[in-house]
Amino acid sequence: VSSTATVRHDLQRNRLLALLPSSEAAQVGAHLEAVTLSRGEQLAQAGEPLSHVYFPITCLISLVVPLPGGRFTEVGIMGREGFAGLPVILEADPAPQALVCQISGEALRMPVQAFQRVLTRTSALRKLLYKYAGVRLNQAVQLIACSASHAARPRMARWLLMTRDAIGAVDFDLTQDLLAQMLAIRRSQLNTAAQRLQQNGCIHYRRGRISILDPAGLEAASCPDYRILRTELERLVGEM
Ligand SMILES: [Zn+2]
Repeated sequence: VSSTATVRHDLQRNRLLALLPSSEAAQVGAHLEAVTLSRGEQLAQAGEPLSHVYFPITCLISLVVPLPGGRFTEVGIMGREGFAGLPVILEADPAPQALVCQISGEALRMPVQAFQRVLTRTSALRKLLYKYAGVRLNQAVQLIACSASHAARPRMARWLLMTRDAIGAVDFDLTQDLLAQMLAIRRSQLNTAAQRLQQNGCIHYRRGRISILDPAGLEAASCPDYRILRTELERLVGEM
């Protein structure tokens, strides 16, 4: 938890909050707290109400569908361009998905009850998050088509690029097992894809840490969904 001055500065570091008019930013900022989330931290259980909503800054939060045996598959990612807590905005029942922090980092969060009160007084925030909900709906649909039609390597490249945009960094901790789970592909397939991307000089992968060395090369290796999803997001938050 940090001071009000820090939170005010941090508001500019989440692309959605940065779009708020200053009058609303002050109201929202008054209820936000800065937190550091750790990899693997479960922020919400499937089917249970959220305790907080999150505006990520440097962390990556995944929306995941739990599978038998403690595994899961990913259906959405949120970083500094996003927001975790759409069921609250939509006044929907708790979703059958869970929220998990996949890459450690900073976020701003607000208790759900405070957020609900703030929303009644902040029309720009409400409108912005409705638009964001539309973007995320399109993202989810696009990702279903992606997993049904694109191969492991282009999907891995897409995921890495989306993650870079979401956390604003080209180096991050990530195990191959986790990425294979998130993309719902076999570990051996992921391994082959990672080796190929590494041989091409797109990435460097070592001991659970991945570095993007050649973003343009990685984009050339990605399926078209990366560009489609990014363009969609940029329409809302501006150039990333
Ligand atoms: Zn795709």
